[in-house]
Amino acid sequence: AKESYNQDYLFYQPDMFNKIKNKQDIRKILRLALKNNGFKLKYQPQVNTKTGNVETLEALIRLKNYSISPAEFIPVAEESGLIIEISRWVTKRAIKDLAVLNKKKNKSLKISINFSVQQLNDLDYINFIEENMRANKVNFENLEIEITESLLIHQEQKAINYLNQLTDLGIKLALDDFGTGYSSLNYLTYISFSKVKLDKILIEEFLEYDNINTIDSLISLFHSMELPVVAEGVETEKQLAKLKTANCDYIQGYIFSKPLVFSQIIEKIDQL
Ligand code: C2E
Ligand code: CA
Ligand code: CA
Ligand code: CA
Repeated sequence: AKESYNQDYLFYQPDMFNKIKNKQDIRKILRLALKNNGFKLKYQPQVNTKTGNVETLEALIRLKNYSISPAEFIPVAEESGLIIEISRWVTKRAIKDLAVLNKKKNKSLKISINFSVQQLNDLDYINFIEENMRANKVNFENLEIEITESLLIHQEQKAINYLNQLTDLGIKLALDDFGTGYSSLNYLTYISFSKVKLDKILIEEFLEYDNINTIDSLISLFHSMELPVVAEGVETEKQLAKLKTANCDYIQGYIFSKPLVFSQIIEKIDQL
């Protein structure tokens, strides 16, 4: 116990912290984590606003031995190309957990994973997913992939072809971080999304200034396209009440649960 205390103490020294934030060091840490099983997944539930049931868990990657957030290390992984291998690790792990989840809970609970633009170059990823899904005997419909708008804007045709291959398998696509990008909505004609996730920033800004009508109209617009809507980053009862009034379909946020490791989330699901 004393040793681990000392390690923590060392880690939190300001100079160490700065050193660790250096991109080159993060790259090293990521390479080592790939070799030495240094990543883990946490899961955060999306709760159905009407039934109160958990329907989907979003997989969020963590480094086991460092307090560097994915907001920091994912961009480094993307720049260095390591994201390809990291995403494959996430995919494999999440599919294994999905199999356990569906067996244990005997339901068609879904797991969603995040997708980076660089993965459009990983053409064999589609086979990789297919093989893992089959090996673990899970339904393709129970896997969801979260895509941000920026991915669609920069390489539109390539992205459309790629994503259509995923939906052809039966995999679901969620439009992630809506409200942070260009929001052209044009691509909704070419790609069949199953869900839209409104970014935390949008939720905060609109609900804070009591601009519920804007959220309301946005949700109505998506509903007219038969797209269910998830609100991300919901923290307060006040936000929750307003989102219910606006007919928001799912809530993901600290108000229900922070991201938890698999064994914890499995227990938590029944308590929500
Ligand atoms: P994201 O995809 O938008 O994921 C949601 C983020 O919001 C998560 O941060 C989650 O912990 C956080 N969050 C959820 N509810 C609340 C809330 O009520 N309040 C606040 N303040 N935050 C909330 P996290 O896990 O730190 O991940 C940050 C970003 O890193 C993710 O944003 C995603 O873009 C990226 N990321 C995480 N895991 C992966 C992964 O496996 N692959 C890829 N490519 N990116 C990932
Ligand atoms: Ca996401
Ligand atoms: Ca998001
Ligand atoms: Ca985000």
